[in-house]
Formats: sequence, structure tokens, C-alpha cells
Amino acid sequence: MRAWECVETEQFGSVVVRRRDCPLCSSNNDGVRPSGHSQPPWAIKKCATCGFVYIDAAPHYEAQVETMAWERTTKLEERRRAEIRPISYRVSKRTRFRLRLLPKRTVLGYVAARIGSGAVVDLGCGGGQAMENFPLAYKPFGIEISAAAAATANQTFGARGGCAINAPCVEGLRRFDNGFFAAASLRSYLEHEAEPLPVLEHLHRVLAPRGIAVVKVPNYGSLNRLVMGQRWCGFRYPDHLNYFTPTTLRAMAAKAGFETSFGLTGKLPTSDNMWAVLTKPSA
Ligand SMILES: [Zn+2]
Repeated sequence: MRAWECVETEQFGSVVVRRRDCPLCSSNNDGVRPSGHSQPPWAIKKCATCGFVYIDAAPHYEAQVETMAWERTTKLEERRRAEIRPISYRVSKRTRFRLRLLPKRTVLGYVAARIGSGAVVDLGCGGGQAMENFPLAYKPFGIEISAAAAATANQTFGARGGCAINAPCVEGLRRFDNGFFAAASLRSYLEHEAEPLPVLEHLHRVLAPRGIAVVKVPNYGSLNRLVMGQRWCGFRYPDHLNYFTPTTLRAMAAKAGFETSFGLTGKLPTSDNMWAVLTKPSA
């Protein structure tokens, strides 16, 4: 994989980017044609070797913080979808009630069913809100690229004996000892990460044996993606750099040493998202 240090960067408008090889198998797909889901200058490619789908240029982490703030791109996305196909967009908005028909899933629900206590790290923790409802038996930690959000999370987590680190996740995870964490939350995070495999490898090291990582990501294999095409809610240019299917998520997790379980309902093709539990084997 081409690392930041040893690759030429380019400018897409005001955004500094670097080219990415396939995040799953490291193949160079420079000759592969961008898919029809691409939105110039952001090219979505399907790896010719392993089938992983990804944007082949990633904004620098600083650019992700400064110009790709989630709130801002959410607004841009809403406008983009409204402009592409106003009627179907409005129908999609008005049928949001369908989401409430699904059972409510939470990271805490997955963790509490498997792990009774210990240190838990939230990757891309933002201001720490996602761990506010964790019982006191869990000590909260987080890693976050936005300095302002990390400072807020650090206050909340610090009061409970944890902390939040302001860094990209590979760098942040390096600061923890082997087997330090009982569990990890990767909720709406892995699709944003420029280096998902190195993150999973580091996470494997810092998790205790039988430790788990709860993952929620958009499911590129969902029926809605096939129906909606470029209007699918999972597409965000370039916020969502990685487009996992159940198969490629399992393959990447296996490369990092994890066993993957989707349970009975974690990868339904009728849902835009999938939920998986990655477990570090005991030996
Ligand atoms: Zn590949």
C-alpha cells in the first residue's frame, strides 16, 4: 500500500489528495475504468483482482477535518440528491418511516451481550456522544481526527478514567498496549477511513483475546443501491472512501486476524447498512 510519506499528492480543487491502491489486496487499479457511480473528480473503482469497491483518491486527513466536516457534506449531499431526481428524492424522504420497522440496533447492545466490562474504544468518536449511555462498568476511550471534537470527548471520557486522542486511528491505536481493550466501536467509521486494513490490524493487536469490534457500514450489496444507483444514500463523495459488501468486509477482517459474524439479520439486502461483530480468536 502506498503510504502518505512516499507518495506524491495532488490537488482536487482546494483538496489535497493521494492516490490509493486497493485497500483490501493492494492491487494497483490505475488501468481500471471508474464505475458509473463515480462523480468527477472522485472515481469509484472495483478492484480487478479482489472486487473491492473504493474511491481511488483520498483527501488528506486534515482536509477531511477542515473541508469535509460531516454536517457540511450532509447538506451538500441532500442538495445533490434533490437536484438529480427531485421526485424520487421526495418519495425517499417521505418513506423514512420504513426505517423504523427495523429493530433498533446499538453498539452498546452488541457489546453488552458479549462483554461485561472493560476498556472500550470508539474509532471516530466525534464529541463522545455515542458512549454516553455506556454503563460505568465500561471505561470509554476514543480516537478522533477533529481536534475540537476530540477535546470535548476527552473531557467526558476523562471523568470516567478514559481519554480521547486527537489523531488518525492508526496513529492513535499505536499508543495503546497489546490486549488493552475489551471491545471497540466502528460505527459509521470504516467507510471514511483511508487506511481501513492497517486500522483493523492495529485494532487486532490492542484488543484482548475474545475481544470484539462492532462494525456498522453501508452495505454496497444492498438492493436499494441497485435500485437507486448514484442516488443511493451510501454514496458520499469523497466522505465514503470504501464501499463494503458482506464478502469484502469479511475478507478484510480475516486479513487482520478477525472472525466475522453478521448474526441472522446483520446483512439483510433490504437494509442500506450492515452490522458485523469481529472477534479476535483466543489463540
Ligand atoms: Zn483488491
